[in-house]
Parts: sequence; structure tokens; C-alpha cells
Amino acid sequence: MQNFQGVGVSPGRVIGPVRQMPKPVSEPPAGEQLPDGVSVEEATAELKQAATAVHDELKSRAERASGDGKAVLEATALMARDTMLLKGAGKLIAKGLSNQRAVWESAASVSEMLHNLGGYMAERATDVLDVRSRIVAELRGQAAPGIPASATPFVLVAEDLAPADTATLDPAVVLALVTSGGGPQSHTAIIARSLGLPAVVAAPGVDDLPDGAEVYVDGAAGTLVEEPGDAERSAAAAWEETASLLADFDGQGTTADGHLVPLLANVGGAKDAVAAAELGAEGVGLFRTEFCFLERDSEPTVDEQAAAYQGVFDAFPGKKVVLRTLDAGADKPLPFLTDATEPNPALGVRGYRTDLTSPGVLQRQLEAIARAAEQSEADVWVMAPMISTADEAAKFASMCAGAGLKTPGVMVEVPSAALTADAILREVSFASLGTNDLTQYAMAADRQLGPLAALNTPWQPAVLRLVRLSAEGAATEGAAAERNAKPVGVCGEAAADPALAVVLVGLGVTTLSMTARSLAAVAAVLKTVTLAQAQELAELALSARTAEDARSAVRGKLPVLEDLGL
Ligand code: PEP
Ligand code: MG
Repeated sequence: MQNFQGVGVSPGRVIGPVRQMPKPVSEPPAGEQLPDGVSVEEATAELKQAATAVHDELKSRAERASGDGKAVLEATALMARDTMLLKGAGKLIAKGLSNQRAVWESAASVSEMLHNLGGYMAERATDVLDVRSRIVAELRGQAAPGIPASATPFVLVAEDLAPADTATLDPAVVLALVTSGGGPQSHTAIIARSLGLPAVVAAPGVDDLPDGAEVYVDGAAGTLVEEPGDAERSAAAAWEETASLLADFDGQGTTADGHLVPLLANVGGAKDAVAAAELGAEGVGLFRTEFCFLERDSEPTVDEQAAAYQGVFDAFPGKKVVLRTLDAGADKPLPFLTDATEPNPALGVRGYRTDLTSPGVLQRQLEAIARAAEQSEADVWVMAPMISTADEAAKFASMCAGAGLKTPGVMVEVPSAALTADAILREVSFASLGTNDLTQYAMAADRQLGPLAALNTPWQPAVLRLVRLSAEGAATEGAAAERNAKPVGVCGEAAADPALAVVLVGLGVTTLSMTARSLAAVAAVLKTVTLAQAQELAELALSARTAEDARSAVRGKLPVLEDLGL
């Protein structure tokens, strides 16, 4: 029996068999020739057979899937039979290339051609590359890439997950996610929380676990235990009770003494917004508009944008919806807005800064937002990502005013913005702390890197001090220098950690926005403390020497976490 320790990023305690995510398929060597003794006809027939096997497998998975996953699988299955792909490969085999190399090159040209056609066709370009990997894996007798297909539930173990993997991730069969890489603010972590799956990231050694090994995963403690015993079995059973208790969330965030802390949802589009409203969110604290257009290589029109935004607004009539303007760049490149060749994209032209290099895009987005807001009953607030100076905040506020948008705000995710929050808040109506980026920039640690996970946690006292400075900045700016005169929320992943959420409230944060699945757990813990107790816990965390000291000191004072398995 072996224990593995990583960083817990999404709570839950489950037991199940391991399924390893297959390694990515490597490129066959350039110029690889047909092996001796294999004829062109044999190699071509073998390729066709492999393509048919891939098609049949994807088709049968599509029949079992539903929603987005079904559509993705159906489209990919069709690509496996694409005549242009197979004919192109056939010609290369006839010239003497191996069938693996031939299909690799043929797929590259088909993909490029689709990409150049733009629109819907361009979106199919990645399907061809997916199919190519599957066909090559089939020819090599290797497991197909991507999330393993299985009719029975399993614990998915991977190095890391790409956002695209999640289209086919079925939460009904994946019990938990465990990765050896990835950090607490990586997209794997964000995805796991949004699906409500227990998850552990940055757990070295888990790549060597054999398929089928029974393991226990605790997504709060960040542990994976091989060959679980009685203690783990009863913990997993107790979690089932917690899960049903949390299902009773009444939609209100409050401390034990009635201090209201609106609990809002982070969404990426209308579908998320509808689900968030059903889960009891009081509104939207972060609408990541770039998620509506990630696959686009041309700027969406004002009409297209207005329609996408209105879908979200309509899910929350009469409620607050905080929309963030396009946050393109770094880990979320948008081909029509960002330069893929930047040497240092996290420090590059991202977020609000793209207004420097692509003037007009932000203005048109604000126009689309205003148009959608006019047609809806939501209380629409708009904020810009990656604001670093009071000047930028002022410029953004005047652009919002020009578009007729009344509540402009900024995200505080660059340390300079936290340090000058008072000046920045003089220019805008509110701020929202993006603790994922604030942590990565304060600690100079890429949020996607597993080995830096220990640095990259918002429990770092340095990050907590920046949060406090921001809240104080808002207070200084307020009418009677009253704490929180201008609202300062948190919409980074920190808000979804129930213990840290209490600390944030104690530091003066006024709203918490998170993936809707985490709302119930945060509400359950928040209502066990008074505001004064939250303030004491905030002091405790701020004065800790290390992130781990801060976390364990606070958790030690919140026994409800252990009771609920959070
Ligand atoms: C953040 O940085 O905390 C944030 C909420 O923005 P994103 O995760 O989209 O970068
Ligand atoms: Mg950010």
C-alpha cells in the first residue's frame, strides 16, 4: 500500500479503480519509409482497417453520450472516414512512406486547409488532428489518446488535462481526477470544480499506478491511498451523506451573525449560467466572455456577441451579472486578438492590454454588452481584466460610459493594482480580485506548473496581504472611509475553498464568486462563523509564516471542515 500526496483542489472522498490517461501519440519520424517486405497495398489496407476501427469506436461512444460530448464524438467519427484524409495518405504510401507517416502528413494538410476556410470548417481542423492520433495509436496497437472509454466508473489519473479533454469527460463515469502535474489554479483544477468532481493535482508518482488498482481519493486533503482499508471506506460512505446535505443549499451566503456575503457564480456562457441559477447562485460574479469565442479565429460580430451575452443575462433577471471583457492571451489565446509568438505571454499583451494592439475590439464588445443589457432585466456590471494602473482604470471607465454602461469595474490580478487599489477605485465603481493571476504574479510562479504548486497557492501570506490592501483601498475610497464602501469581490479559485472563503470575508471582501458547484460547501462553512471570528481567522492567516501554516492554522479552528469532509 502506498500513499500519494498532492494538492487537494476539489473536495470529495471516493473509492474506485485507476484508469491512466494514455500518453499523447508521438509523431512518426519524418520520411519514415514502408517497412521491408510490406507492399503498398498491404500498408493501405492496414490504414483503412485502422481508420474504420477508430470510426466504429467513436460512433459507438457517440451513441452512448449526450449533449456536447455526443456532438463532438459524432463529428470526430465522421473525420475518421474522410476521403480526402485517406486518399491523401494513400498517395503518400504509394510514394513509399509508411502508413503512419502518410496519415500524419495527410491529416496536417487537411487540417490546414480546413483552418484556412475559416468559420465552422476551421473548427473541424482540430478534429482531424485528433483522429490522426487515434489512427496512429491503432496502427501501433496502443491505447487511444484522450479520456479512456469505459462503461464502469473509474478514477482518472493523468499528467494534466487539456481544456479539450473535458468535452468527452463524462462525470457519470469519472469518479475523481488525479494529476501528477498541474497547479491548484490550473484549468484541470477549474474544470474539476465545475464538474463537482473530487480532484488532486501535483501528486508526484501517480503516473506509475497500474490500471485497475483500487484507490481512495480525498480531494480536500489532496491524498490518494492505494488499497483502501476500513477507515477510507467509512470516509467515502460519510462523504455521500455530506453530498446530499450540501444539496440543500438555500441560495444565501451569510455569516452566523447575519452579515450577508452574496455568493455568485463563475460562468463561461449561457449553459453554465442556467446551471448556476439552478444551483442557487445569487448572480454571476465572473462571466468569462472569452470562453464564448475560444475557437474563433475572427472577431465575433456585435450581433453574435450580444446574443451570447444575453443568454447569460437572461438566466438572472433582476440579479447582478458581472461580465468581464475578453481576457485573451497567456493560457487563453484568441487567434484574432493575441500574438502566438510572444516570448513571455503571461507578461505580454493580454486582457485589457489587447486594446493597445487591436484597438476597436474592446469598444465593439462594450457596444454588444450594452445592447444585450438593454434587452435584459439583469443588473449588468462590466469589468476589465489585467488592469495595472489607475490610468488604465480611468480609460476603461470612460469607454464604458461612452457605451452607456453604468457600472464599470476592474479585476485586481496584477500586484500593482492591489498596491494602488485606492487610486484605482477612485476611477471605477468596484473591483474583483482574480486571485489565480494575483497569486501567479505575486509569487512569480506560472499557475500551470505542477512543480510550483506549493508557491502557487492563494494561502501565501503575501497574497493575503495584497487582498487586504485591496479591501482597504476600497474602504479609503469610500464616502465615510467606511470599510468596503466600494465593493471588492473575489472571483478567483480562492473563493471556492471554504476555509479560505472565511478568511477572505474576514479580510473585508464583500462578495465571493466561484464555480456553482462549490457554492453549497462555502455557504455551509460560512454560516458557522461570525464576522468577528472570520476577522480573527484572517489575522491568524495573515500573520502565518508560510502558506501551509496559514492553511493549517485556519483549518484547525474550523472543525466543521473535517466533519463535512471539506
Ligand atoms: C483569476 O485570475 O483569478 C481569474 C478569475 O481569471 P482567470 O482564471 O480567468 O484568469
Ligand atoms: Mg485572471
